[in-house]
Amino acid sequence: MHEVGHTLGLRHNFKASSWKTLAEIDNPALAVGEATVASVMDYTPTNIAPKGQKQGLYYTGTLGPYDYWAIEYGYKPIMGNEPEELKKIASRCGEPGLDYLTDEDTRGSVDSDPLSNRFDLGKDPLEFARRETKTSAELWSQVVDRAVTPGEGYQHARQAFGMLFGKYWQTLAYVSRFPGGIYVHRDHKGDPNGRTPFVPVEAARQRDAMKLLTESAFNVPALPPPAVLNSLASSRWSHWGTRDVARLDYPVHSQIANAQNNILTQLLASNTLTRLADTELKVAPDADLYTLAEHLRMLVDGVFTEVREAHKPGEYTNRKPYIGSLRRNLQRNALRRLAGTINGGSGFVPEDVRTLVRMHLVDLDKQLTALLAAQDVKLDDYTRAHLQDSQERIKKALTAQLVLQSID
Ligand SMILES: [Zn+2]
Repeated sequence: MHEVGHTLGLRHNFKASSWKTLAEIDNPALAVGEATVASVMDYTPTNIAPKGQKQGLYYTGTLGPYDYWAIEYGYKPIMGNEPEELKKIASRCGEPGLDYLTDEDTRGSVDSDPLSNRFDLGKDPLEFARRETKTSAELWSQVVDRAVTPGEGYQHARQAFGMLFGKYWQTLAYVSRFPGGIYVHRDHKGDPNGRTPFVPVEAARQRDAMKLLTESAFNVPALPPPAVLNSLASSRWSHWGTRDVARLDYPVHSQIANAQNNILTQLLASNTLTRLADTELKVAPDADLYTLAEHLRMLVDGVFTEVREAHKPGEYTNRKPYIGSLRRNLQRNALRRLAGTINGGSGFVPEDVRTLVRMHLVDLDKQLTALLAAQDVKLDDYTRAHLQDSQERIKKALTAQLVLQSID
């Protein structure tokens, strides 16, 4: 249906999967002939019910309301006043199920509408991400039992793990588009139920997104046990169109660091930060607002929790460190990016970002000093070295020469 849609002139509609809620899509009573998404021109993932819940349709079974509407506009034989009739059809834009955003509305941080994604599902991408990350993290410990049959090679375990791991981070990437997000509508002036072209994402939803990222992206859930991690064998298949892996065993740290970096890139992108700053003038003065200041505070709090919260007294060892290796990597990456914003960095960021980040780095410096000096915390080598190094980096960032351009 999707490819036939293209031959009839339809383009992708990546907002179409935000038509129904997951509960509506998961409804086991739904008939095969009913649509679960508003258009076959979206890319939709397989709908897999969470454990313990009855399975609904795996895929949409038919064309959606958007498809009928677009084909009606393009192909309906019209007698009489054609422009008038076409306008009437087009004016239904604001109806549920007729939202449309395409490829050039769905480019990571460049485009603002977090409901336009490839392979997301349901009205609420946050709910979808909660469901998918939970399922992925439950299943990724079972890949050897469930994906490798006796007598077969272990590469099937790695493939299955790769799919689950990919799903986990892909759905969190959708979540990372909510802070600084703006819904985009193509309604015309005067349409029934017409909306303005831009509507900033609700403040509460932006906060929820940051909470979810703190829980699931900045803090990674339990990884598979060693027996499984040591069974993620790469395929030795090498041929046209396949890439040799750089390492045969599974590079767990770098895989997670890459995924977290993508999230940080989105949260600190020039477009995200400038939209957050601009939105402060685009909502009513008394309306709830997720400010640029709140965004940066939530990010710094979520990444540097161990440094910012009350110390946890105790004796720590290199095997059971105060700050684990995945969190140390995350903190280093975040610090590098934050330091970049106060020293010009790459891309335009509002001046307020520079001053806010500077403030947070000054606070972090004090908190690092306090943790390093805490009498009731015996730090392990990893954490002590990490904290000292972080402090050194902060000092360098704060004292780096800032070039102020003169205005002729
Ligand atoms: Zn296509």
